[in-house]
Amino acid sequence: MSIAENLNRIKNSIPPDVKVIAISKTKTFEDILKAYHTGHRDFGESKVQEIIKKQSQLPQDIKWHMVGHLQTNKVKYIAPFVSLIHSVDSLKLLKEINRQALKNNRKLPVLLQVKIAVETTKFGLEPNQIDDIMQKSYPLEAIKIVGLMGMASFIDNKNQLDQEFSTLKDLFNNLQTKHPSIEVLSMGMTQDYQQAIAHGSTMVRIGRKIFGERST
Ligand SMILES: *Cc1c(COP(=O)(O)O)cnc(C)c1O
Repeated sequence: MSIAENLNRIKNSIPPDVKVIAISKTKTFEDILKAYHTGHRDFGESKVQEIIKKQSQLPQDIKWHMVGHLQTNKVKYIAPFVSLIHSVDSLKLLKEINRQALKNNRKLPVLLQVKIAVETTKFGLEPNQIDDIMQKSYPLEAIKIVGLMGMASFIDNKNQLDQEFSTLKDLFNNLQTKHPSIEVLSMGMTQDYQQAIAHGSTMVRIGRKIFGERST
């Protein structure tokens, strides 16, 4: 099946209020344009170098999502254009995003990435760090924390995934009662997006199921 068909099929099979971010890392301009020409505008990348290059050469109305680990010293390269940063995992990073957003005269929406997977390699805040970072974000006038992001374990165990997604959904609900600006719950990828949606995801980040397997 084609990229356009894959994308339309996914969109037609999920609730209309769940937003699909097409994760285009390692994929060519040509492949991205195939998705773009279906009317799709939200694309995600995990590397700063790659997102900058694609942003400069592809249509300017694409909304670019930074979903990968972000180093503080690289925020300046994406601050001028990025649409949503999914991967805020420290106060230091949040402060730098604020600083660069101010420089660019923007107010940048971000998500806090929470560690929900059992694997130790995954980035993210511990659940008990969320309240503190929310409090400390108040003086940062050029950022807006709009939700949470999480990556489940890369495993095939449905019960384990249920547990991880419901942990994140509970944190999200809890936060939402205290902060009305919280509205985005970014969870679910190719192998687990249906399950994530069943647990209340509002945004899924899908790469391989749209563009095919990655060779690198
Ligand atoms: C690569 C990536 C995805 C998409 O993964 P697929 O398995 O290709 O759907 C989603 N989120 C993040 C943070 C990623 O790095």
